[in-house]
Amino acid sequence: MVEKKDIRDLSLPEIEEFFRSTNEKPFRAKQVYEWIWKKNCRSFSEMTSLSRETRTLLEENFHFSVLQPAGESVSSDGTVKSIFKLPDGALVESVLIPADSRTTACISSQAGCALACRFCATGMLGFTRNLTFTEIFDQVVILNQQSERFHGKPLSNIVYMGMGEPLMNYEAVIRSIEKITSAKALGMSPQRITVSSVGIPKMIRKMADDNVKFHFALSLHAATNEKRDQIIPLNKKHPLQELTEALKYYHEKTGKRFTIEYILFRNFNDSLEDAKSLALFCKSFPVKINLIGYNPVENSGFGQSDPEKVRTFKEFLESRNMIVNTRKSRGKDIDAACGQLALRNSEKRKGKSEK
Ligand code: SF4
Repeated sequence: MVEKKDIRDLSLPEIEEFFRSTNEKPFRAKQVYEWIWKKNCRSFSEMTSLSRETRTLLEENFHFSVLQPAGESVSSDGTVKSIFKLPDGALVESVLIPADSRTTACISSQAGCALACRFCATGMLGFTRNLTFTEIFDQVVILNQQSERFHGKPLSNIVYMGMGEPLMNYEAVIRSIEKITSAKALGMSPQRITVSSVGIPKMIRKMADDNVKFHFALSLHAATNEKRDQIIPLNKKHPLQELTEALKYYHEKTGKRFTIEYILFRNFNDSLEDAKSLALFCKSFPVKINLIGYNPVENSGFGQSDPEKVRTFKEFLESRNMIVNTRKSRGKDIDAACGQLALRNSEKRKGKSEK
């Protein structure tokens, strides 16, 4: 039997071609495309403007690959964490974060992650697979509905900061962003989208060459090789000097400012010396710095920085005329840090199979 293709993998011309080859009117393709991307339908039976025969024809040739909601928890601070089951059983997480006038969706680009950063629950899970662009896109659609349901307004921002390293699944990430920003689909501004990476120099250059319109954020978390090697194993392969060259290239080519994400870990990277190293690292390009409170992950060995140290760290950077924001960790009561729920689930499964 021929395996059915996911209808959403087809471009509009490809759907038109399918209709031509089956002696159907090609203009039907536009209707199908609108049902899929504008009205976000996930079954052929919902396409009520098509005849029963056309719907059956589509059903016989294509399928919809959809995310199955597998859990939702709401934090006392309003953060909503969702877990989704993929068609092959892999689990991914997304988090909806309300703050002031914004609601931000933090979405995953991979099931698990191969990079094994020491502070990260997803890193402890290991890598399962890349998500398809529709699996990434669907998280945004579902979180947009969640945002309406919980907060009475649509999503304002999207960050690719959930499970996985987005630049290691570049093509699917770019295709998902094309759909999120397309007037024929969600129609959001690329200015509201941030792709966050621990820094793969080759891919940072590629983003610059592709002249991407979304924001870029580098998850730096330590500004010396000695410390970064300890928490981000990829740094041994691509040390800070190499990263700096790629970031300079990115800035020169795009003229854009990017964000440095810096999680403050208690007594590891939160001293005045560390702040000086960070300021030195940032001197080659204009950046905005987000200092992030750590959402502790069991067995990571890292804890949250003391408020006094955070204040001193921030004040030092500001004294160097740097733009600095502090971000609190959110949803602690629901394991909202990326990968925490999936890690718990996998530990439970392991526990069961060992019993
Ligand atoms: S921090 Fe990001 S890159 Fe590192 S292990 Fe976690 S998901 Fe992967």
